[in-house]
Amino acid sequence: MELESLYQEVILDHYKNPHHKGLSAESDIQVHHVNPSCGDEITLNLVLRDGGVQSVTWNGVGCSISQASSSIMSELVTGKPVDEAMRVLESFSELMASKGSQSGDEEVLEDAVALAGVSKFPARVKCALLGWMAFKDAVVQVNGREEDAR
Ligand code: ZN
Repeated sequence: MELESLYQEVILDHYKNPHHKGLSAESDIQVHHVNPSCGDEITLNLVLRDGGVQSVTWNGVGCSISQASSSIMSELVTGKPVDEAMRVLESFSELMASKGSQSGDEEVLEDAVALAGVSKFPARVKCALLGWMAFKDAVVQVNGREEDAR
């Protein structure tokens, strides 16, 4: 099977059967992000425990890229130490900024490498990054709160 079509399968799978979709009852924080250029929306609940990502749940509407990417993101960061999750996020941001010149490190990005081709289309990069930016925002806000409490 061609790599391109394999990647399409991965994206379609996540789109049809999104992981961690459906908001948890409890969360440390809830954020809502929109991508007006495409009409994608995501609401994300984050729970951090002991420096790790205990749960990321989300709900959203939008194109297959935004929904699949949010599913892949939530799967990738759940259970990881926060700093490791942030490194995955940086690696994905770098891939999305590569304008098609990178294929992504599969060791780090796992299913997210399937989105590498999106980096060739600037208009779609925002779709792919929506969930990731929501996650980053949520982490920054929770950590900021803890700083304030000290
Ligand atoms: Zn979109």
